[in-house]
Amino acid sequence: MKTPRVIILTLLLWSAGSPMFVFSQAQQDTSGVLSEESLLSVMHSISSHPLLNYVTELASEKYEGRLSGTAGFNEAAQWTADLFRQWNVKPLGDKGTYFQEFPNPYTLVLESGEVTLRIPIGKNDTIKKSYKFEEDFFPGSTSDAGSMTAEVFYVGYGITAPELNYDDYKGVNVKGKIVMFEPEVPVSPDRQPETFKQWRPYSFHDYKMKNAFAHSAAGVLYNYHIVNPNCVFIKGLVINYVGRNIINDLFAGTAKVRDTLVQLIRRNHQPLSFSTGKTVTIKCVTEHHPEGIGKNIIGWIEGSDPALKSEMIILGAHLDHVGKNHLLMPGANDNASGDVVLLGTAEALSKVSGPLKRSVVFILFGAEEQGVKGSEYYVAHPVVPNANVKAFINLESIGRGEKISIGAGENYPQLWNVVDRNNAKYLHRTVTTSYNANLARPRQDAAHFLWANIPTIGIGTYDAKPLPVATYHTTQDKVEYITPEILEDIARLMFLSIVDMAR
Ligand SMILES: [Zn+2]
Repeated sequence: MKTPRVIILTLLLWSAGSPMFVFSQAQQDTSGVLSEESLLSVMHSISSHPLLNYVTELASEKYEGRLSGTAGFNEAAQWTADLFRQWNVKPLGDKGTYFQEFPNPYTLVLESGEVTLRIPIGKNDTIKKSYKFEEDFFPGSTSDAGSMTAEVFYVGYGITAPELNYDDYKGVNVKGKIVMFEPEVPVSPDRQPETFKQWRPYSFHDYKMKNAFAHSAAGVLYNYHIVNPNCVFIKGLVINYVGRNIINDLFAGTAKVRDTLVQLIRRNHQPLSFSTGKTVTIKCVTEHHPEGIGKNIIGWIEGSDPALKSEMIILGAHLDHVGKNHLLMPGANDNASGDVVLLGTAEALSKVSGPLKRSVVFILFGAEEQGVKGSEYYVAHPVVPNANVKAFINLESIGRGEKISIGAGENYPQLWNVVDRNNAKYLHRTVTTSYNANLARPRQDAAHFLWANIPTIGIGTYDAKPLPVATYHTTQDKVEYITPEILEDIARLMFLSIVDMAR
C-alpha cells in the first residue's frame, strides 16, 4: 500500500542582498525521483547502532586521541576516507585524494609532569605538596619540556594593552618566575560587545603565553583546567593548566581572595598583580613536532542537475581531538559524536544521490582543537568557491542531551526554517535557535564560515543529565556517556534537511 503523499510547499527567502533563492519541499517533483516512501525508508536506515560503533572506533586507543598532525589522527582520517569510498562519496581533496593538507605543528605530552608546592618550615626544611594529574592540573599540551622551581606571581589576565591603559605586568618583576593568570579578558563579549572588540586580541591563549614570555617569565600556571592544545609552543616556556585546588593553595595566607580580585579587575579595569610568596616546582615532559602536517578530509556527492550542481551544501565536523596528554583523551562527545552523525548522513545521502540537484560536500576538519586551524585553512583555500556555498552546517559535540540547538539560525533563517520544519514533521525533539554575533575568539569551525559570510548554522545539543565527572577535554569523555538516540535523531534530521536544501 502506498502512503499518501503530504504535499507541502514552503518557500524560503535567502538573506537580504543575495538573489532570491528557494529551498522547496519537492514531493511534487515531476521527475519523480524521490517519493515520500523512499525518503522515509532511507531515513529509517539511519540507526543508532552503527553510529555508536563508529564513536567506539574513533574514541579507541588506536587513534591516540586524534591530535591533528599525529599518526593517530592520520589513521582516523584514513578510516573515514575508506568509508566515504565505500559509499561512493567522491574525493575532493588535494590531487584526487580525500585529504587537504596544511602546516600543523603539534606537541606530544609524554608523562604526567609535576606541580609541587614547597612550603618552608623553619630555616632548612620544606613541606612539599604534590598535586595530581587531571584532578588538580594538566601539563600544557604545547609546553616546552623542562622543570623549574620558582616564586609564583599572580598577574590577573596576563594582558599588556597600552592603548587600553592596562598592564597586568606593571610593577611586578617576573623574570625567571612562574606567572599565574586567568583565561579571557575582563570584558564580556555578550554584555559589552563594543568594548570587547578592543580587548579581543588579548583573549587568545597564544597572546597570553607570548606576553608572559616577553616579560621573561619561565613558567605559567594557567587557570584553565582542561587539556588544551589550542596554544603556541614557545621554546623555554613551561606551561601547566591548573584548577581550584592549586589556585586556592597559592592564594592561602595572602589575605587576598581570587574571586574577589577577578571581580575588582572586571569592574575597574585596574590590574591587581602581586607575588603569592609561594614557591612551586613545575615539570613538563613533552616533544615538539614543528614539521606536523594537518589534514581536512573532504568528500562529495556531485549534484545531478547541470545548472544547480555548482551550488553546494557543506556538512562539517572536526575529526581531531586533544590527543593523549600521556593518557588517552577519547573525545567521544568532542567530537566523535559530530563525526559519526556526518558519516551516517553521508551514507544515507549516498543512497538518494540522484534527486540531489545541488552538490553536497562533507568535511571532517583537522586542528579544530589547535585553534580552529583546519577550517581557517579550508575557508582560505576552498575546494569549491565560497560564494557557491548555499549552506554550511557544523556538527559539534552532539552526543549528549535531549534538546537540539541551532546556532546562528537567527542569522540565517532560511537554514533554520528547513531544520525546524523537518524536526516538527518527523523528529519532534525540542529544537531552538539563537543569534550568533561571532565576536569572541573562534571556538568552533562555524566561526570561520560565518566570518566569510557563508550561510552557516551550528548544530549542538543541551539539557543533558549531569554526569559524576568532568568530561570536557579530560580522560572521561567516554563512549559510555553518549546517548545513541540523539545521534540517530540528528543524523536523520541532517539527512532530511540536506535533501530539502539540495533538491
Ligand atoms: Zn574540543
